[in-house]
Amino acid sequence: MMTRAQNLEYLSQEPLDVLVIGGGIVGSSIARDAAMRGLRTGLVEKIDFAFGTSGRSSRLLHGGMRYLAQGRIGLVHEASVEKTILHRIAPHLAAPLPFVFPTYRGNPDWQLWKLKMGVKLYDLLCAGRNLGESTWLSRADTLLCVPGLRSDLLQGAVRYFDGLTNDARLVLDTLRSAVRHGAAVANACRLVSAKRGSLWTCECMNEQARQPLTLQTRTVVNATGPWADGLPHSRVKLRLTKGIHLVVDQQRLPVAETVVMTEGSRILFAIPWGLRTVLGTTDTDYKGSLDEVTATGDDVAYVLGIANQFFPNAKLLSTDVLSTWAGLRPLIADRKGKPSDISRSHEIKSPEPNWWDVAGGKLTTCRLMAEQTVDRVIKGADLPAQNCRTAEELLLEAVDAFSGIAPPKVSREAVQHYCENEWALHLDDVMIRRTSWHYYRADAEDVARQVLDWMAELRAWDEETKAAEWTEYQRLLSLSTQGARRS
Ligand SMILES: Cc1cc2nc3c(=O)[nH]c(=O)nc-3n(C[C@H](O)[C@H](O)[C@H](O)COP(=O)(O)OP(=O)(O)OC[C@H]3O[C@@H](n4cnc5c(N)ncnc54)[C@H](O)[C@@H]3O)c2cc1C
Repeated sequence: MMTRAQNLEYLSQEPLDVLVIGGGIVGSSIARDAAMRGLRTGLVEKIDFAFGTSGRSSRLLHGGMRYLAQGRIGLVHEASVEKTILHRIAPHLAAPLPFVFPTYRGNPDWQLWKLKMGVKLYDLLCAGRNLGESTWLSRADTLLCVPGLRSDLLQGAVRYFDGLTNDARLVLDTLRSAVRHGAAVANACRLVSAKRGSLWTCECMNEQARQPLTLQTRTVVNATGPWADGLPHSRVKLRLTKGIHLVVDQQRLPVAETVVMTEGSRILFAIPWGLRTVLGTTDTDYKGSLDEVTATGDDVAYVLGIANQFFPNAKLLSTDVLSTWAGLRPLIADRKGKPSDISRSHEIKSPEPNWWDVAGGKLTTCRLMAEQTVDRVIKGADLPAQNCRTAEELLLEAVDAFSGIAPPKVSREAVQHYCENEWALHLDDVMIRRTSWHYYRADAEDVARQVLDWMAELRAWDEETKAAEWTEYQRLLSLSTQGARRS
């Protein structure tokens, strides 16, 4: 595995074939695909890998039951097939997850007979290979399966399968794979400007060393998610919507399987995550800072309100919330209609020769987006390259104890691994994206203190740097625990 310094050196040595801007799931998947096809590939990420939406999703690999209800069969088919491919190539990050979708008399949006047909179609759209077979449950069986569920007017439920992943880990393992295939990747490296000549000359800022870095490349791919319309040369038009998640102790809301909760035509989830239950999400238009997206008190109250309607005895309060995260959906602009109705499909466009904008899509379809993008990049620049192999080759040949859906054990060994092999530069890189300890652990602050000491030794931080790291982490902690017990 190349170190960060080696990566930066490689990036600036000779012209690249492909320079990917943005280290989210889309950018990392494109870098992996391009490198596997033998292209000289680089990727720059301005803050940290998975800093953006790809570290703040619902962590589901799904075809989209909701899109099925909207009649978007093509979209559901595409995502369903991709869900099964990810399950095959990255089994450590794609666990089959049963969903129980209860229905109530008098709810015109979600009728049991329609859902029964829907889930069977859902299985078929995975080319008959869903992660488990859908069934339906009687009223009594639904209550046995989901203790505490509201019972008045309950008719029954359907039970179907999607996958549970760990979004940030999916990004990091995709990058580890990209690097194994020859790509060079750098976090804390921001694209500032780009100029087109016979090659593209990209001016970047190495935020770690506070030094400019000039890179030359035949092609550029803008994969900056919610930031995509702000990049120089970009012609992307986005409509950003915010979605938040809350983490509560599993004992406060014990769900063995994901429970689908509805509000009109919207659906929310209560997702089991080890000792925790994750509740989400919202879908509201967003206009604020892209670098600091947070859950407000209103967001928290909305999600808790729905959860309390479906689990009336839980009586969840904002003080039950251990942590929150909030992300932005980079949806292709459509000013009309409700946010939740806007298409989740993706777009790949070239506004100028050898500049590619990739926007929209979702975590589940990242591999396909990458395959389609790299096909076009190769054709557009007439690059000699091999065929795409990302649907066949395992993401990682050998999976270690440091990556998975559940957070790893807190240990010095793990922290050392993240610093040496996964480009962790700051305390929050480890606490939030490498491990999820920040969201998962009730004693996150104590864990962070220990990790700070380990990182200080491993990275040779002086007292001043250590203090700055701690101050920044405290700030992030307060942002991600608004209305929560820890604040
Ligand atoms: C609340 C919510 C829940 C979701 N749940 C799911 C789900 O369960 N399943 C699913 O399939 N999809 C889900 N999605 C959608 C999915 O998460 C996104 O489509 C996907 O993560 C977008 O990835 P991306 O790589 O395009 O963007 P991002 O992950 O945002 O990556 C873009 C990166 O570009 C970097 N960047 C920006 N500007 C620059 C620059 N100048 N130079 C260098 N780097 C730069 C940013 O720092 C960022 O890391 C969800 C989305 C949201 C908001």
